Amino acid sequence: MNQIKTGKFIAQMRKEKGMTQRQLADELLISDKTVSKWETGKGMPEVSLMMPLCEVLGINVNELLTGERIPDESYKEKAEETMMDLMRNKKGRGKIIALMILILLLMLAPMIIVAVLIEKYNLPEKLEIITLIPAIIGAVAIIFVDCSVGYYQCDECNEKFVPKFSANYFFAVHKPDSRKIRCPKCGKNCWCKHNLY
Ligand SMILES: [Zn+2]
Repeated sequence: MNQIKTGKFIAQMRKEKGMTQRQLADELLISDKTVSKWETGKGMPEVSLMMPLCEVLGINVNELLTGERIPDESYKEKAEETMMDLMRNKKGRGKIIALMILILLLMLAPMIIVAVLIEKYNLPEKLEIITLIPAIIGAVAIIFVDCSVGYYQCDECNEKFVPKFSANYFFAVHKPDSRKIRCPKCGKNCWCKHNLY
């Protein structure tokens, strides 16, 4: 499932129907801002809106989720694939979030312990600075975990790849489920969707 692809697909289907964002929004009793959010890949339609949206656009929910027209004969196969994708993503996300919370706790614990010790024994406050070490290690660890779990998919050429943990990755702009990194195949610096196993 690729939010950006779904967004482009919604826009394409809407234009094929000769509708403006406003007209589509009016049909669904929502604001045209919401439609614009979907089409630019910044959000997915709520579950309750999926059926009405599909009806207006003349597509089915599976086509909406995969962001492409699906010929009848491969419909079942594609539906199962989508289902598997959704499940895999959910499971992987849970694991990665648990791991990140653990790292965060390991970063915060020394800060709290040192603060308590300074207070109790009247130690110089400068000592707080040593807690920066676990904090920095933790921050790097979080991004490293994010980089090595699952794979990324290029929005331009659909290449699936595991990025190298480098400065390009580390400082890249990111959203919860995608990151602007260089694709090893087409070499473009574009939004790549993070798929978790
Ligand atoms: Zn690419």
